[in-house]
Amino acid sequence: MGMETEKEKKSIKKDHPAEEKASVKMKNKPKRSRSDRSVEEPSSNEKSGKAGKKVNLVQETGEAAKFLARGIGRVFTALGSILLTVLLIGGLCALIVGTAFAVYLSGYVDSSIDEFEILASEQKRTSQIFVDDGMGNLSELEDQKLYMSENRVYVDYEDIPQNLIDAYISTEDKRFYDHNGVDWLRTIKATVYYALGNSAGGGSTLTQQLIKNATGNNDNTPQRKIGEIFQALNLEKNYSKEQILEMYLNTIYLSQGCYGVQSASYTYFGKPVKELNLLECAAIASITQNPSKWDPKLHPENNIIRRNGILENMLEQGKITKAEFDSAYNAELTIYDPEESEDPDNDPGESSGSATGVNSWYVDAVIEDAIELLMERYEVNYNVGEQMLYTGGFRIVTAMDPKVQQVLEEVFTDTDIIDEIIGASPGMVKPQSAIVVLDTKNGNILGLVGGRGEKYKSRLFNFATQAHRQTGSAMKPLSVYGPALESGIINYATVFDDSPYSYDDEGNGWPKNSPAVYRGLTPVITGITNSVNTMAVKILDRLGIENSFNFLTEKMHITTLYRNKVINGSVYNDLSLPALALGGMTEGVSVRELAGGFTTFTNEGVYCQPRTVLKILDSKGNTVVDNALLTEECLSRENASIMTKMMNNVVVNGTGSSIKLKNYVFTAGKTGTTTKNNDKWFVGYTPYYLGGVWFGYERAQSLGGFSGNPAMKIWDYAMTKLHEELVFTPDGEDGFDYQTDRQGNAIPKIYSDVIDPGVLTLQFCQTCGKLATEKCKKVYRYGTSNTQNMTATGYFTADNMPTESCTCHVEVTFCTAGNHLASEACPEEYLKKRVITVVDSAKDRYTYNGKSVYAYRSDEKAVFYAKGDGTYGGFDPQNPFDSFCTKHSQSSELPLASAPVAATPTEKSKRRKDRK
Ligand SMILES: [Zn+2]
Ligand SMILES: [Zn+2]
Ligand SMILES: [Zn+2]
Repeated sequence: MGMETEKEKKSIKKDHPAEEKASVKMKNKPKRSRSDRSVEEPSSNEKSGKAGKKVNLVQETGEAAKFLARGIGRVFTALGSILLTVLLIGGLCALIVGTAFAVYLSGYVDSSIDEFEILASEQKRTSQIFVDDGMGNLSELEDQKLYMSENRVYVDYEDIPQNLIDAYISTEDKRFYDHNGVDWLRTIKATVYYALGNSAGGGSTLTQQLIKNATGNNDNTPQRKIGEIFQALNLEKNYSKEQILEMYLNTIYLSQGCYGVQSASYTYFGKPVKELNLLECAAIASITQNPSKWDPKLHPENNIIRRNGILENMLEQGKITKAEFDSAYNAELTIYDPEESEDPDNDPGESSGSATGVNSWYVDAVIEDAIELLMERYEVNYNVGEQMLYTGGFRIVTAMDPKVQQVLEEVFTDTDIIDEIIGASPGMVKPQSAIVVLDTKNGNILGLVGGRGEKYKSRLFNFATQAHRQTGSAMKPLSVYGPALESGIINYATVFDDSPYSYDDEGNGWPKNSPAVYRGLTPVITGITNSVNTMAVKILDRLGIENSFNFLTEKMHITTLYRNKVINGSVYNDLSLPALALGGMTEGVSVRELAGGFTTFTNEGVYCQPRTVLKILDSKGNTVVDNALLTEECLSRENASIMTKMMNNVVVNGTGSSIKLKNYVFTAGKTGTTTKNNDKWFVGYTPYYLGGVWFGYERAQSLGGFSGNPAMKIWDYAMTKLHEELVFTPDGEDGFDYQTDRQGNAIPKIYSDVIDPGVLTLQFCQTCGKLATEKCKKVYRYGTSNTQNMTATGYFTADNMPTESCTCHVEVTFCTAGNHLASEACPEEYLKKRVITVVDSAKDRYTYNGKSVYAYRSDEKAVFYAKGDGTYGGFDPQNPFDSFCTKHSQSSELPLASAPVAATPTEKSKRRKDRK
């Protein structure tokens, strides 16, 4: 890209996402050495201007440079001018030698030669996709060859018109056939400009441009330029001019998202490059130097100027005749319009691998992952990585389980199945859905589907791997419960007050539970089972937002959370209670990454990053990429097991209770619904498979038309099918235990429970979270003659378990006639021992919608009762439960505040004793 200015470069970068991406990878380039700084200094006006009076070489040079830079036509002697030149060249030599050595040592030169070997290979071969049977035996997926869509396909040298080659050479690098990769004359000119502080660059041969395009490294530093020189010399030694031209013309960026002349030819002219005429060749060659400026579609007025210049160059250098020149000079250019085209085959937007087979959703994901891996391996940009993949004859070994993939595709392809599962009415706009199924022990992606319906094209937008959607509560095990359990802030039984965390000026509480039930004192297990929002927020507050964020991003490798991210001048942040506790993050998370987080629970506390590609072999069978499993220790194995017990409870008793798979196999999981009801999630697992499903409209809108959680229904259907076909063996000769379903069929009961041997099982009191006592089993329900068992089974580790016995359930004497605490006047025959709940007053007891959840006894003690449905609330001030019986005492009601702090058995029995 000859003489573009810094400003132009920036504007190119903007519509050049692949390059920008790649440039991030170039961090480990050689550091600036001392030697080049000493050369730069003379060109700095400020420094030289402030130099002392002592005359030295540096100052001399600096003064001279200052004059030049200012552009003042001051006369200086011929001697000074010569001295300046000598000094400059001397400095340049020092610069070149100094940095060349550093560059050589850093391996800069060697690092990017392999990719050219692959790009320049005579035999362009499609890469093949293999699966590993787990025993190291590979088999090819023969229906999944990688075909690049027509408009992106690599074009061979033989198919490139001579006019196009001449247009490039005559303008970009007219000594191309004569130099050995570097045009020294132009290089020295450019270096002098550089030394004078003019960063215009330039002087690059096509060979050097090729290196720059392939690596995506655009730094305007002497280090890169020198590295590039070495690489160019090296490249010319190893490859013919034709090979270099072919690689060059296939990798240049030509605006409109086109890489390579074939892509540009389809985009601008709707035909393959070999059919281009002279005018069209000149138009394409014009774009190269500054794609955003010379784009013939966006700026025809600029392109005509540039291409006329190219035609002049071609005429001057004898590449075209005068007649040819005249026919093209100032001629009107017809740009292809895909919408007017009647021939769909020529539409680059629509052309795909359909003629040669459509890749599955899984292979689509493999393609993206393999490109990333090749980019890292060969230090190339996305475009070159992609070209290498399609033409390099690689063998990609994937983690796919073809049977799993087949089952998932069957479920998602037949839209009738899904419509029935989700209860879609005919004629309605059908939402999208996606699923990822992982191996529970290593995070290998066994199967995935990125959208609904028949897949008609390769590389469609993939809702399983590329879409980022808010997760709602499906995030809570990763962002709240997991890290809080591991840090010891909570255990299975820890009690929180289920009431809003905060209130606005109008007294509206946040967050709201869904449904809007507030339970008062509630143990953690109930919080996760019923997806209680207030509890998740309060636990997160105790855990610390920063801790949660770091756990997600560093331990579980969630890549799409924002920390002070600036987009169009606004700052976005996911370091907040709503983002992390309720899954209301700015951008969202992919199904793949969310499901990946759950491997922590299925793999004994160790996170496994989901992967589709295990390794990449080159065409000779050598391993070029070994995509080793990335793991992170997140939880102890005991805590992972406790989390699984909690999420089993979600499926057995909570928001996931409609899951039927649990009847056949041990199942755990978590539901998710976003605040606006735009997205539904379910991530769940058995001992065999871990699956994540997202359901929602392509463009987010409310799923109000659907009842229940369609993601969960799809998960249940697909996962049940997987287990039926791949795990359950219905003939009964498998050694598994059987249970009988409701229809009386024998069903294999493969796994009734999963629990780590280091986990302790204890009964606890659900109101205070301490160890259960006999009293906890018969807590009086106000207004009935029933009692309620407030104990539950909990799972703990020895260092994080309740050690005290319940203090909240106390036995008091009741007057059954007055249905209140007995007063001194109540006759004996009405007296009855009852267990009621006494809790410490806490500041965060609240009033919600005018209803008090707790009845206060005094500032010190409060009493509340359980309603029939097991929730707490509804204190009736007209009929205060915690006052003494008034039926027999005749006296007026005892005011709450003046009531003795006497609900405890000791006080009560003492008074009784006094009376007797
Ligand atoms: Zn109790
Ligand atoms: Zn208790
Ligand atoms: Zn009474």
